[in-house]
Amino acid sequence: MTRMTPLLARNEQFARTYTPAALGIPAAQLLVVTCLDHRVDPAIVLGLQLGEAPVIRNAGGRVTQAVIDDIAFLAFLAFVAFLAEQLFGGQDAADTLFEVAVIHHTQCATGFLADPGLADAALAASVVADPHATVQADVERLLTSPLLTPKVSVSGHVYAIATGRLTTAVDARYPERRRG
Ligand SMILES: [Zn+2]
Repeated sequence: MTRMTPLLARNEQFARTYTPAALGIPAAQLLVVTCLDHRVDPAIVLGLQLGEAPVIRNAGGRVTQAVIDDIAFLAFLAFVAFLAEQLFGGQDAADTLFEVAVIHHTQCATGFLADPGLADAALAASVVADPHATVQADVERLLTSPLLTPKVSVSGHVYAIATGRLTTAVDARYPERRRG
Protein backbone atom coordinates (compact mmCIF):
# COMPACT_ATOMS: atom_id res chain seq x y z
CA MET A 1 0.00 0.00 0.00
CA THR A 2 1.13 3.52 -0.79
CA ARG A 3 -0.83 6.75 -0.82
CA MET A 4 -1.02 6.12 -4.57
CA THR A 5 -3.15 2.98 -4.09
CA PRO A 6 -6.55 4.71 -4.41
CA LEU A 7 -5.24 6.72 -7.38
CA LEU A 8 -4.03 3.55 -9.09
CA ALA A 9 -7.62 2.29 -8.83
CA ARG A 10 -8.86 5.56 -10.38
CA ASN A 11 -6.30 5.13 -13.16
CA GLU A 12 -7.62 1.62 -13.79
CA GLN A 13 -11.09 3.14 -14.31
CA PHE A 14 -9.61 5.79 -16.60
CA ALA A 15 -7.71 3.29 -18.74
CA ARG A 16 -10.86 1.26 -19.42
CA THR A 17 -12.37 3.90 -21.66
CA TYR A 18 -9.14 5.57 -22.76
CA THR A 19 -8.39 6.64 -26.34
CA PRO A 20 -4.84 7.91 -26.99
CA ALA A 21 -4.57 11.50 -28.25
CA ALA A 22 -2.71 11.94 -31.54
CA LEU A 23 0.77 13.45 -31.49
CA GLY A 24 0.70 16.86 -33.15
CA ILE A 25 -0.38 20.41 -32.46
CA PRO A 26 -2.44 20.49 -29.22
CA ALA A 27 -6.14 20.74 -30.11
CA ALA A 28 -6.78 24.01 -28.22
CA GLN A 29 -3.66 25.66 -29.76
CA LEU A 30 -3.04 26.93 -26.26
CA LEU A 31 -0.28 26.59 -23.68
CA VAL A 32 -1.08 27.32 -20.04
CA VAL A 33 1.43 28.67 -17.49
CA THR A 34 0.08 28.61 -13.94
CA CYS A 35 0.76 28.02 -10.26
CA LEU A 36 1.41 24.54 -8.88
CA ASP A 37 -1.25 25.20 -6.19
CA HIS A 38 -3.60 22.19 -6.00
CA ARG A 39 -6.61 24.56 -5.97
CA VAL A 40 -5.72 25.87 -9.45
CA ASP A 41 -5.72 22.70 -11.55
CA PRO A 42 -6.26 23.92 -15.15
CA ALA A 43 -7.71 20.56 -16.25
CA ILE A 44 -10.59 21.18 -13.84
CA VAL A 45 -10.78 24.99 -13.77
CA LEU A 46 -10.64 25.31 -17.59
CA GLY A 47 -12.17 21.93 -18.39
CA LEU A 48 -9.13 20.94 -20.45
CA GLN A 49 -9.38 17.53 -22.08
CA LEU A 50 -6.49 15.17 -22.73
CA GLY A 51 -4.44 16.35 -25.74
CA GLU A 52 -5.87 19.90 -25.70
CA ALA A 53 -3.06 21.94 -24.17
CA PRO A 54 0.36 21.58 -22.55
CA VAL A 55 0.53 23.03 -19.03
CA ILE A 56 3.65 24.43 -17.32
CA ARG A 57 3.34 24.86 -13.54
CA ASN A 58 5.68 26.31 -10.93
CA ALA A 59 5.43 28.34 -7.71
CA GLY A 60 3.22 31.31 -8.58
CA GLY A 61 2.98 30.45 -12.30
CA ARG A 62 5.87 32.83 -12.89
CA VAL A 63 7.54 33.31 -16.30
CA THR A 64 11.07 32.26 -15.34
CA GLN A 65 13.97 31.56 -17.72
CA ALA A 66 13.16 27.83 -17.41
CA VAL A 67 9.55 28.51 -18.46
CA ILE A 68 10.71 30.61 -21.43
CA ASP A 69 13.04 27.76 -22.49
CA ASP A 70 10.15 25.25 -22.29
CA ILE A 71 7.88 27.53 -24.34
CA ALA A 72 10.60 27.95 -26.99
CA PHE A 73 10.99 24.16 -27.12
CA LEU A 74 7.20 23.60 -27.44
CA ALA A 75 6.99 26.27 -30.16
CA PHE A 76 9.70 24.41 -32.07
CA LEU A 77 7.79 21.10 -31.70
CA ALA A 78 4.53 22.76 -32.79
CA PHE A 79 6.27 24.25 -35.81
CA VAL A 80 7.63 20.85 -36.83
CA ALA A 81 4.18 19.27 -36.30
CA PHE A 82 2.64 22.04 -38.34
CA LEU A 83 5.11 21.48 -41.21
CA ALA A 84 4.29 17.76 -41.13
CA GLU A 85 0.54 18.46 -41.23
CA GLN A 86 1.05 20.94 -44.04
CA LEU A 87 3.03 18.36 -45.97
CA PHE A 88 0.39 15.66 -45.54
CA GLY A 89 -2.83 17.58 -45.02
CA GLY A 90 -2.32 20.77 -47.02
CA GLN A 91 -3.28 23.31 -44.35
CA ASP A 92 -2.88 27.02 -45.02
CA ALA A 93 0.42 28.61 -44.08
CA ALA A 94 0.35 29.39 -40.37
CA ASP A 95 1.69 32.62 -39.01
CA THR A 96 0.37 31.57 -35.61
CA LEU A 97 1.32 28.46 -33.63
CA PHE A 98 -0.43 28.85 -30.27
CA GLU A 99 -1.36 31.28 -27.52
CA VAL A 100 0.37 31.23 -24.14
CA ALA A 101 -2.13 31.94 -21.32
CA VAL A 102 -0.36 33.05 -18.13
CA ILE A 103 -2.67 32.51 -15.14
CA HIS A 104 -1.93 33.88 -11.65
CA HIS A 105 -4.34 33.56 -8.75
CA THR A 106 -5.57 35.20 -5.54
CA GLN A 107 -4.53 33.80 -2.13
CA CYS A 108 -1.29 32.51 -3.68
CA ALA A 109 0.89 30.91 -1.01
CA THR A 110 3.98 32.50 -2.58
CA GLY A 111 2.57 35.74 -1.10
CA PHE A 112 3.85 34.55 2.29
CA LEU A 113 7.37 34.84 0.89
CA ALA A 114 6.86 38.60 0.63
CA ASP A 115 8.09 38.81 4.24
CA PRO A 116 11.65 40.13 3.67
CA GLY A 117 12.96 38.21 6.71
CA LEU A 118 11.84 34.93 5.15
CA ALA A 119 12.64 35.12 1.46
CA ASP A 120 15.95 34.61 -0.29
CA ALA A 121 16.48 36.29 -3.67
CA ALA A 122 15.28 33.34 -5.80
CA LEU A 123 12.15 32.86 -3.68
CA ALA A 124 11.45 36.60 -3.59
CA ALA A 125 11.38 36.60 -7.40
CA SER A 126 8.47 34.14 -7.38
CA VAL A 127 6.21 36.12 -5.01
CA VAL A 128 2.64 36.72 -6.21
CA ALA A 129 1.19 39.25 -3.74
CA ASP A 130 -0.91 41.09 -6.36
CA PRO A 131 -1.82 38.65 -9.19
CA HIS A 132 -3.01 41.48 -11.49
CA ALA A 133 0.40 43.17 -11.27
CA THR A 134 2.52 40.00 -11.54
CA VAL A 135 0.54 38.58 -14.46
CA GLN A 136 1.01 41.87 -16.34
CA ALA A 137 4.76 41.85 -15.63
CA ASP A 138 5.10 38.21 -16.71
CA VAL A 139 3.19 38.69 -19.99
CA GLU A 140 5.55 41.59 -20.70
CA ARG A 141 8.61 39.52 -19.79
CA LEU A 142 7.57 36.76 -22.18
CA LEU A 143 6.63 39.14 -25.03
CA THR A 144 10.04 40.88 -24.84
CA SER A 145 12.09 37.66 -24.65
CA PRO A 146 14.24 37.19 -27.76
CA LEU A 147 13.53 33.45 -27.46
CA LEU A 148 9.80 33.89 -28.11
CA THR A 149 8.91 33.28 -31.74
CA PRO A 150 6.65 35.98 -33.25
CA LYS A 151 4.23 33.14 -34.16
CA VAL A 152 3.22 32.84 -30.49
CA SER A 153 0.78 35.23 -28.77
CA VAL A 154 0.54 35.81 -25.01
CA SER A 155 -2.42 36.64 -22.75
CA GLY A 156 -2.73 37.13 -18.97
CA HIS A 157 -5.51 36.06 -16.58
CA VAL A 158 -6.32 36.07 -12.88
CA TYR A 159 -8.11 33.19 -11.19
CA ALA A 160 -10.11 34.01 -8.05
CA ILE A 161 -9.97 31.18 -5.51
CA ALA A 162 -13.09 32.52 -3.71
CA THR A 163 -15.38 32.41 -6.77
CA GLY A 164 -13.72 29.95 -9.16
CA ARG A 165 -13.87 32.66 -11.82
CA LEU A 166 -11.10 33.47 -14.32
CA THR A 167 -10.86 37.05 -15.64
CA THR A 168 -8.64 38.32 -18.44
CA ALA A 169 -6.13 40.92 -17.26
CA VAL A 170 -4.12 41.23 -20.49
CA ASP A 171 -5.61 40.54 -23.94
CA ALA A 172 -3.68 38.23 -26.28
CA ARG A 173 -0.83 40.05 -28.01
CA TYR A 174 2.07 39.15 -30.29
CA PRO A 175 5.68 40.31 -29.72
CA GLU A 176 6.27 43.85 -31.06
CA ARG A 177 8.91 42.77 -33.56
CA ARG A 178 6.24 40.78 -35.44
CA ARG A 179 5.00 44.09 -36.87
CA GLY A 180 8.50 45.47 -37.49
ZN1 LIG B 1 -0.12 30.01 -6.14
